[in-house]
Amino acid sequence: NATLAVEDPEIFSLVEKEVLRQHEGLEMIASENFVSRAVLEAAGTVFTNKYAEGYPAKRYYGGCEVTDVVENLARDRAKLIFGAEHANVQPHSGSQANAAAYMTLLQPGDTLLGLDLAHGGHLTHGHKLNFSGKLYKIAGYQVRKDTETIDYDALEAQAIEVKPKIIVGGGSAYPRIFDFARMRAIADKVGAYFMVDMAHFAGLVAGGAHPSPVPHAHMVTTTTHKTLRGPRSGLILCNQEFAAGVDRSVFPGQQGGPLVHIIAAKAVAFGEALQPEFKTYAAQVVANAKTLAAELQELGYRIVSGGTDTHVLLVDVFQKGMLGSEAEFALGEAGITVNKNAIPFDVNPPLRPSGIRLGTPALTTRGMKEAEMKTIASWIAEALENRTDAGKLAEIRGRVAELAEQFPLYGFLRG
Ligand code: PLP
Repeated sequence: NATLAVEDPEIFSLVEKEVLRQHEGLEMIASENFVSRAVLEAAGTVFTNKYAEGYPAKRYYGGCEVTDVVENLARDRAKLIFGAEHANVQPHSGSQANAAAYMTLLQPGDTLLGLDLAHGGHLTHGHKLNFSGKLYKIAGYQVRKDTETIDYDALEAQAIEVKPKIIVGGGSAYPRIFDFARMRAIADKVGAYFMVDMAHFAGLVAGGAHPSPVPHAHMVTTTTHKTLRGPRSGLILCNQEFAAGVDRSVFPGQQGGPLVHIIAAKAVAFGEALQPEFKTYAAQVVANAKTLAAELQELGYRIVSGGTDTHVLLVDVFQKGMLGSEAEFALGEAGITVNKNAIPFDVNPPLRPSGIRLGTPALTTRGMKEAEMKTIASWIAEALENRTDAGKLAEIRGRVAELAEQFPLYGFLRG
């Protein structure tokens, strides 16, 4: 029963290094966040030892009486947060949630109409190397060139033409609110299902800072680890009509035993999302993103679609004479973690795209507000302008560490 430090000092020291890395830098990857100590604790419990194939009261293993209570709590809290009739909390990830949702509604060979990956969609919405692109016929809708927002009239015309079995809303790099009512109307018009993958903005929905897709969609999927601030995992919501089908698609359709420790951690995170403070957090995430976008615009940067309604923004750095890959590297040297990202109608290739994607959930969880966003925007611009000056980048990194120190993270894990 040795501790991690004693049994495996190699891994222990890497955990310590990662704690320090997360503490000292500014985490601006839009899909990341910092879970609470309680969520971390739940994820590290003995529930990792338990096999529990099946569902509460219908298991294929004995000894599930405590697990059943945990899973029921997670399901009930998820339903309460989002006002859904049914929740499946077993998908191991967002990708598996999507695979199970598609399996429920589609047959291989059916047509899926999702947001084009190059315009902000996700791999599971039809990348050719992903299961979605291999199992289904894929059609992609796009944003308008002038507004860089979804062209719903074009989407309608395309839906009439390709006759999809499903229209998928949501994406990984679309900073605006999807028009769920319009998308459902288009789906109804062509006899398609409407699904929303709210992985990116689920926490904003939970906190009332973003419209909910649940009343509009036949099926809603999400990850639980982005704005929703839970452990790395997935979730499916639907009404009773699809409940049994979804449950069958997750198990035995896609998975064997659920990760009970992660379901416990999801239950804790869902409990947190039901607290009044979560509303404050969600509103601040959006306020921070809007401030960051406005400040960067002020500093001469073009923001895709002219701004953001959510937690995420895309910055066109190519217009300032650099590639997204160069910008990502320079910001990394300055202690600011972001990712390079294609922008709509990108003239550059995916690994050396024209943009970077910035997000505010993680910094907001640390307690940062508009004042810090203004400071950070100026440092981003300074780092990008001095991207070949290692000394300058190191100097900014020092300032970043000083700011980070004022918003301590996981103090209980250090020293
Ligand atoms: N859906 C969307 C919109 C995402 O952005 C992501 C992750 O980036 C996923 C699904 C997949 O989630 P996971 O990485 O948990 O498989």
